[in-house]
Amino acid sequence: MSLGEFDIIARYFANRAPRPDVLLGIGDDAAVLDVRADRRLVVAMDTIVDGVHFPSDTAAADIGYRALAVNLSDLAAMGAEPAWMTLSLCLPQADASWLEGFSTGLFELADRFGVALIGGDTVKGPLVVTVQVAGWVEPDRWLTRSGAQPGDLVYVSGVVGEAAAGLAVIQQQMPETAAAVQLRQRFLRPAPRVALGRSLRTIASAAMDVSDGLLTDLGKLCTASGCGANIDVDLLPRSAAMSQVFAADACVDYALAGGDDYEILFTVAPEQAPRVARELNAVCACTQIGVVTSQGGVQCRQGQQPYAIKRTGYDHFAGAQQST
Ligand code: ADP
Ligand code: MG
Repeated sequence: MSLGEFDIIARYFANRAPRPDVLLGIGDDAAVLDVRADRRLVVAMDTIVDGVHFPSDTAAADIGYRALAVNLSDLAAMGAEPAWMTLSLCLPQADASWLEGFSTGLFELADRFGVALIGGDTVKGPLVVTVQVAGWVEPDRWLTRSGAQPGDLVYVSGVVGEAAAGLAVIQQQMPETAAAVQLRQRFLRPAPRVALGRSLRTIASAAMDVSDGLLTDLGKLCTASGCGANIDVDLLPRSAAMSQVFAADACVDYALAGGDDYEILFTVAPEQAPRVARELNAVCACTQIGVVTSQGGVQCRQGQQPYAIKRTGYDHFAGAQQST
């Protein structure tokens, strides 16, 4: 690399906004954190790979933003407050303008959520970015996928499907109408639902973030909870932007099977439902899309009719056709 590893770290990643609980940050063999006794540590890691999780011509700033956003979404789904991150950067070359863009996108989001970069690794190879994020939650207050009970209501935050529709806009190089640009941004700049996750701690019976697609992820939540769910397609939140660019049935399929939205899927006991309207909708819109059932599997209906989905969620090892 023309820029040495030390130069890269010093120039783009070290000496950022400090946190008082980082006792020793970048520059030593490891970081040392002050972890309070009255909090529980929550840790997640996600890797994004060039050409797999983002198209190869994605701007460096969007890659930096995304590497952290997908991790913050995992912490949000646990009800945790983010605090620290480490970064493993595998780069084909040390390109100053790429690194400038990447670090700008990364720290735009890190600064917004008060996350300190406390270490990492920098190596040469194909472009692969791994972020590990750590945060905290109050004792016994973390959210899991496994707490849903038959009769609970199934909710999703925001709008699902727009990110997958946005990826299609990018891949098919569709005309840049306002709606198409909005969809593209939803893919490139997902907004992690950290505040919602914090609010869900005392309301939700189970939660997870939607990264692989609504039906696939709801299936995982149901498996973890030992139950099933019925979803009504007519209840799905509608996207004006998506319906301006895509046909109605494609919109439904994107909503059910498109990945990368990083919305939060959660279940709520019926007696907690008034709190969703009262406390959560002030944070972000949440829509009830179905109910938890005692029988396994996710049933998808439109009114009284079964709804057949044409696409499926993405699984890296199953060879599905979608390319996120
Ligand atoms: P070591 O050889 O002990 O693993 P390195 O030379 O790899 O140390 O890293 C030196 C310091 O820089 C360490 O504190 C490490 O955590 C940090 N670091 C390395 N790469 C990155 C990166 N991409 N982002 C943030 N910190 C990094
Ligand atoms: Mg090292």
